[in-house]
Amino acid sequence: MTPGTHLAVVVEDEPEIAELIRFHLEQLGLQVQVASDGRRGLELVKSVSPAVLLLDLMLPDLSGLQVCQRVRALPGSASIPIIMVTAKGTEADIVAGLEAGADDYLTKPFSPRVLVARVQAALRRVEREHEAGIDTDRTGLLEGRLLIDLGRHVVLVDGKPIELTITEFQLLHYLASRPGFVRTRDQIIAAVHGRNTILSSRTVDVHVTAIRRKLGGVGVAVETVRGVGYRFSEAL
Ligand code: CA
Repeated sequence: MTPGTHLAVVVEDEPEIAELIRFHLEQLGLQVQVASDGRRGLELVKSVSPAVLLLDLMLPDLSGLQVCQRVRALPGSASIPIIMVTAKGTEADIVAGLEAGADDYLTKPFSPRVLVARVQAALRRVEREHEAGIDTDRTGLLEGRLLIDLGRHVVLVDGKPIELTITEFQLLHYLASRPGFVRTRDQIIAAVHGRNTILSSRTVDVHVTAIRRKLGGVGVAVETVRGVGYRFSEAL
């Protein structure tokens, strides 16, 4: 990241929290613009196209969820990481936010270290996806220990081919295509749906268990995020 060239948008109606976030992001070398309601936040994102968006869920005017959905509907917005900021212990809100297109979340109250780590991780992921073209046919993950070859429908662990069902393959590919980002069960179902498969939350869990077992030593990379869904970790 080149300091000063990255712009963060913070949509937050509580001035103290907005200023706290601004302070810590500026320490990272980001420029920060704050909007105090949903409508202004959406306009700001449209006009500046930020490198990262921190979005409070409880906002006057448009809710954070509505802002999230509308941002995701903008052309070219898929590469903007959206980190939603939500009150603690509201798993339903977290799930709704991820399904509205958020990439990650912070629960209030958050420590500055966690805030900084999440933002840095989001920026790194975007940079890496940009450089590596992670949606290309052949993707090496976990320092090369796991290779997913979309064209040939092959998964290799430490060079050895792994037998996965079509559903397991699609599910693994979906999670692994954005390491570090949490996916809800409903998002997984929507992404893997079709091709003679009927998935439910319960069967997603069953498939994940099978994938972990078949992946052996690298299976732990498919992490459970309690009450929310699953995430493919960035490292073992
Ligand atoms: Ca709020």
